[in-house]
Amino acid sequence: MRQKLNRQITGSLVACVHCGLCTDSCHYVQANPGDPTYAPAYKADKIRKLFKRHFDWTGRIFPWWVKAGSVFTDEDLEELKDTVFGKCTNCRRCSINCPMGVDYATFNRMARGLLVSVGIMPEGVAVVSKDQWEVGNQMGVLKEEYLETLEWMAEELQDELDDPKADIPIDRPDCNVIYSINPREVKYDPRSISDAAKIFYFAGESWTMPSEGWDMTNFGLFSGDDALGGSVARRLYEQAIELRAKKLVISECGHGYRSTRCEGPNWAQFNMPVEMESSVITMLRYINDGRIKVDKTKNTESVTFHDSCNNARSCGLFEEPRELLRHVVTDFREMYPNRAENYCCTGGGGAMSMAEYTPRRLKSGIVKANQLKATGAKVVVTSCHNCVDGLTDVIRHYKLDMKVTQLVNLVANALVVKKKAAVPVG
Ligand code: SF4
Ligand code: SF4
Repeated sequence: MRQKLNRQITGSLVACVHCGLCTDSCHYVQANPGDPTYAPAYKADKIRKLFKRHFDWTGRIFPWWVKAGSVFTDEDLEELKDTVFGKCTNCRRCSINCPMGVDYATFNRMARGLLVSVGIMPEGVAVVSKDQWEVGNQMGVLKEEYLETLEWMAEELQDELDDPKADIPIDRPDCNVIYSINPREVKYDPRSISDAAKIFYFAGESWTMPSEGWDMTNFGLFSGDDALGGSVARRLYEQAIELRAKKLVISECGHGYRSTRCEGPNWAQFNMPVEMESSVITMLRYINDGRIKVDKTKNTESVTFHDSCNNARSCGLFEEPRELLRHVVTDFREMYPNRAENYCCTGGGGAMSMAEYTPRRLKSGIVKANQLKATGAKVVVTSCHNCVDGLTDVIRHYKLDMKVTQLVNLVANALVVKKKAAVPVG
């Protein structure tokens, strides 16, 4: 803990006055009325007591007075694991609702890191972390599998557009854009790769994808392991530098964007010289600059937007996705509350990988389900692969008549494609 304490964490550990104003901001609390163990301040005190016992003078001298304490048994460790991994998605909604500026999610992540350092974590967290350390990406996608998928997507695009130049270039140096993705796209949603390629093609972009270090997700954000976080971020940064790309574009993923663009340089102690941006901003710029033409009447279903906690609350990406949506759909309906006050999809903080907490996660999903239902929309759009999975689970569990999609799919569908002139064959 001594190594991990910084101003933000220490300030949050000492500043709580137990006013309880954050309590109702948590979706776990709302879904479990009458159970105080879900209250952010209650959960925070499980970590705070360790800090008091070991670092705060009152806790060292009068531990009984300030409720300071340490962990002594396996049961203590298991209880802490249950709290920090199973009762919080690190969504930071309570953080922005605290008048004292207590950022519980930040030190909840710190506590996860402490447990991981002594080998206490849900099995899924261990498996995914191992894959990211050893294979280089969260889903254990092998290099051959990744390259074959890109090749397959490029072939489909060439057939669709009837143009052999509609390619997915690999390791091309000196491009304007190097495009990084989430391994989920290779494994479960390759359509999002071909949709992005289609947009780059119509924008006339000079772009490439790296054959190595291509994963922009980072399980270090969820596990609290800064060493993993730094190592993963560095792999991607070094690819962008080696290929002399001018800009690193990060596909739609909330935790990937936060890890790569915001937290990675700190974890990796790396001064990243290449500009980084979300593909949401890239697509919006293409439209605003007239590099691609879109026709919103191609997407006529009613659409609402779910702000990913990491994109919105943690990285301030609020207006760009909405501006983009207004260009590509005819019927956009806000969800309430939204932007910084939006509720987690339930899958944040790596929750989708922790199967033992699934019933608890789905129970907390009632808050999201009610929000979705109230919009009356048929489609929920989100700029995050994690949220796609979280929302899909909530929709299935609560039997909502809705489907989930991402901006890249809507933009690609709305593209105005000039048909090639038919040449009569003699
Ligand atoms: S974290 Fe903030 S809002 Fe919550 S009880 Fe403590 S001081 Fe009050
Ligand atoms: S970070 Fe989110 S899930 Fe965790 S306690 Fe705060 S509001 Fe609840």
